[in-house]
Amino acid sequence: MTVQKMDHPNDGVKCSVDTCYYYMNGDFCTAPRIHVGPHGASTAEQTDCNTFRRK
Ligand code: SF4
Repeated sequence: MTVQKMDHPNDGVKCSVDTCYYYMNGDFCTAPRIHVGPHGASTAEQTDCNTFRRK
């Protein structure tokens, strides 16, 4: 999912993936919305942000 990068953080998301195009210093995400998967995950460790885009 490719979405427009915002010039401010998404207040609802805290993220530490500093290799992502949408990452902002302070562990913020500048994507207006994110998509997390996969279906059937049973622990937090099994989930991933599908909106991630390499810098
Ligand atoms: S798009 Fe996903 S991986 Fe990238 S900064 Fe936002 S929450 Fe983190």
